[in-house]
Amino acid sequence: MNYNKKTVKDIDVAGKKVLLRCDFNVPQDKATGAITDDKRIRAALPTIQYLLDQGAAVIACSHLGKPNATFDSFVKKQAEKGKDPAALTEEDWKKSLKKLSLAPVAQRLSELLGKPVIMAADVVGPDATAKAAALQPGQIMLLENTRFEKGETKNDPELAKKMASMADVYVSDAFGAVHRAHASTAGVADYLPAVSGFLIQKELEIIGGALADPKRPLVAILGGSKVSSKIGVINNLLNIADTIIIGGGMTYTFIKAMGGSVGKSLLEADWLDYCKEMIQKAKDKGVKLLLPEDSVCAKEFSADAQPVTVDSMNIPDDMMGMDIGPKAIAAYADAVKDAGTVIWNGPMGVFEFPAFAAGTKAVAEALSHCGAITIIGGGDSAAAVQQLGYADKMTHISTGGGASLEFMEGKELPGVACLLDK
Ligand code: ADP
Ligand code: MG
Repeated sequence: MNYNKKTVKDIDVAGKKVLLRCDFNVPQDKATGAITDDKRIRAALPTIQYLLDQGAAVIACSHLGKPNATFDSFVKKQAEKGKDPAALTEEDWKKSLKKLSLAPVAQRLSELLGKPVIMAADVVGPDATAKAAALQPGQIMLLENTRFEKGETKNDPELAKKMASMADVYVSDAFGAVHRAHASTAGVADYLPAVSGFLIQKELEIIGGALADPKRPLVAILGGSKVSSKIGVINNLLNIADTIIIGGGMTYTFIKAMGGSVGKSLLEADWLDYCKEMIQKAKDKGVKLLLPEDSVCAKEFSADAQPVTVDSMNIPDDMMGMDIGPKAIAAYADAVKDAGTVIWNGPMGVFEFPAFAAGTKAVAEALSHCGAITIIGGGDSAAAVQQLGYADKMTHISTGGGASLEFMEGKELPGVACLLDK
């Protein structure tokens, strides 16, 4: 995939209407609907501010959560949850939609920008089209949740065309959604000149750069819970990296594949052969594959379980691996010492429990002073680095969980592929 895409700086946006796809999929308090973390709104500000300063009229859009775009799909979903379909009314459905309105985002965005944000009552309906037509340079409006339209997730060309007809240019800055081919993330680019905003530009430059032409040695650190969710990442990085470090829950499927005993550790028996294949592939390619020599184990999966350090190949039957041990920490810190680039996806242990966070913390610490380009991908990894206080010590923390994984898998990202090449 070509990562060298035109950005907002490569086109003239003055006096133009710009349809800007953002990632405003913010976490909300279940009871009150209040936004609990506005990081994603803040992340969009540089591109928005630039467009407004250039004299563009900005028509922002985003999805939020997973609304049911039709009454039928609402009834079906509720029935799956055990509700009586006959008792459900259109009112119930509309109430469920209201909870996923972008109106609170418009309000927060307005506070952050220090100017009004005009909220549309629909996506491509009469209110949105009238407000878009009247929008002046330097003004910003926000369309309603794009997933209120049933054509959004189906990438319906009719919806894409309607969205595009409100604007002159399409700017995508929703890195968190580029792995989805939806009407607002990819479809609209069929009808408008399409470029990236600053968020996507940075992701492409840094992650794309590390995958296409890394400063070597390239060390990939892979952890998290399951091998099965990281197959593509392991496979692709084995083609690129000089060293691969394994930690987290996926460790134990590898250990088992090597003939070790893993006790009650997370084990995906269906993936044993795959792990064997990957061990062989690493050998064939001359990639150093490091597994933790020791593990911090516990008898149960709980925050107050008693941590015990054991040899990873010999975990007692009544124990499970919860974190990498001190020998592994020393070996992994040594492995990244002279790295040119480190790509890290997946925590080394159950970092949510303080007793099992040492491995993840030690790896973050090692990265913070290794002098390499350090890239963090994956939702939980980003959260771990933030929570442990190392966020500002890394070169780049990807803003897209699923998107960054697919990026590292070497997959084509529809929301990037649709942008104009430089
Ligand atoms: P990311 O979102 O960064 O891609 P994952 O979703 O793959 O990461 O994995 C994160 C989760 O893996 C964390 O919630 C963490 O508790 C869990 N995890 C890490 N190590 C283990 C382990 N040894 N056993 C079970 N779960 C683990
Ligand atoms: Mg995750």
